[in-house]
Amino acid sequence: MLKRKYLWWDQLSKDEILEDVKACDIAILPIGAIEQHGPHCPCGSDAYNAKGLAERIAEKTGAMLLPLMQYGAHPYHHWYMPGNLPLSYETHIGVLCDIIRAASFTGYKKFFILSAHGQLSTTMIAVHKLGLEGFFTLSCHWYDLLRDNQTVLSTPMVHADEAETSLALYMYPEYVDMSKAIDDGGEPLVSREFVSLPGMSPKPGQMFYFEGTMARPEYKELESGVIGWATRATTEKGEKIVTATVDYISKIIEDIKERYPVGVVPPVK
Ligand SMILES: [Zn+2]
Repeated sequence: MLKRKYLWWDQLSKDEILEDVKACDIAILPIGAIEQHGPHCPCGSDAYNAKGLAERIAEKTGAMLLPLMQYGAHPYHHWYMPGNLPLSYETHIGVLCDIIRAASFTGYKKFFILSAHGQLSTTMIAVHKLGLEGFFTLSCHWYDLLRDNQTVLSTPMVHADEAETSLALYMYPEYVDMSKAIDDGGEPLVSREFVSLPGMSPKPGQMFYFEGTMARPEYKELESGVIGWATRATTEKGEKIVTATVDYISKIIEDIKERYPVGVVPPVK
């Protein structure tokens, strides 16, 4: 349960944060990206998704919210696409590590990087670099917990599609124009038989999408900027996805709280 008066680190004074860390020393770092999301959704969609999910999780668990990181690192094939503002891999890894190291000086001992953008190329490295220094850090993209979403969605999550647009309709409909939503997509460079797309549950014989250079550059491949079925998005689907994701992550955080009470550092080192 939330005890402090505001959710975000940047809305609180130093003394308020020092008081709050006595009740819960888990901090969530929500990270998005600035990336085009088709003609119907804003370029900040991933950042807004991370923000909306993180706020709901903090309200439930009391975990501190480190300031939202709007910029993200993009997979190689996102570079040069109009609307995208990618950070280099080294920059992003450096920023993630610096924020977590710095938050530890205020007393936070467990960290959760909540990503709403496909940036495993940097989050995984950051987590392992931090592990070498003794930091306990979990990270996931929200769809990692939902995978095929078959109870709610008719298509697996990819980009600016049924899943992401549903989140947008539920959490920030004022920035969405469904009259411009379209269904579109590209083809991987290897047979689909061998690749599980980002929101799919992998099957035997398949590699994860981010394990190789599986795509042509988006600025050459994608005219609309959508990969998936954006026209199938609804507010109701968005609410169900958000509720399920918030429940899953809150459950993980509650479990960490129980296993490692305030002041206890999980034995990473
Ligand atoms: Zn997105």
